[in-house]
Amino acid sequence: MIYPKAIATLIEQFQKFPSVGPKSAQRMAFYLLRLPKNDVENLAKAIIEAKENTKTCEICYNISQSSPCEICSSAHRDNSTICVVAESKDLIAIEKTNEYKGLYHVLQGLISPLDGIGADDIRIKELLNRLTDEEIKEIILAISPSVEGEATSLYLTKLIKPFGIKVSRIAFGLPVGADLEYADEITIAKAIEGRHEI
Ligand SMILES: [Zn+2]
Repeated sequence: MIYPKAIATLIEQFQKFPSVGPKSAQRMAFYLLRLPKNDVENLAKAIIEAKENTKTCEICYNISQSSPCEICSSAHRDNSTICVVAESKDLIAIEKTNEYKGLYHVLQGLISPLDGIGADDIRIKELLNRLTDEEIKEIILAISPSVEGEATSLYLTKLIKPFGIKVSRIAFGLPVGADLEYADEITIAKAIEGRHEI
């Protein structure tokens, strides 16, 4: 079936979203076409505003309204602990528990040789720089036990240990490969509490 060019372009754009296949992309495009013009304009505005008003924190690489972010610039956080996560969404999942009071470091991905993502493609160097600059006593790895997560944790542990800093990994009461963002707050809080040194 051949769509008018404008619709084909829209479908093509939606297909770039994570986990969106051709069928879902079509559904999204036709949903938009049925919306009142005002709603479509509000959506387009929200997308542009989210992009324009979002920064990446220069210290922890979290997505934030300011840089340094609220967490890095807070006087009420424990500056001696850094919790390392793959993505900002994992940080948000941990923050929701209200249990963790330390700092974070967002890697912006995991090492994945199959996808061509190496150690230099994520924020590992930036994490190591923080270890020399700051008074860090413990690094908590809150990384999913997936193949990529394991590879990244192993690599990080090897690099951090020589600094004489305690490295621990959160206790995953989750199925292997499960995402932190899908875990409930109690599970995450328990996982942090039950972390073990590696
Ligand atoms: Zn920050």
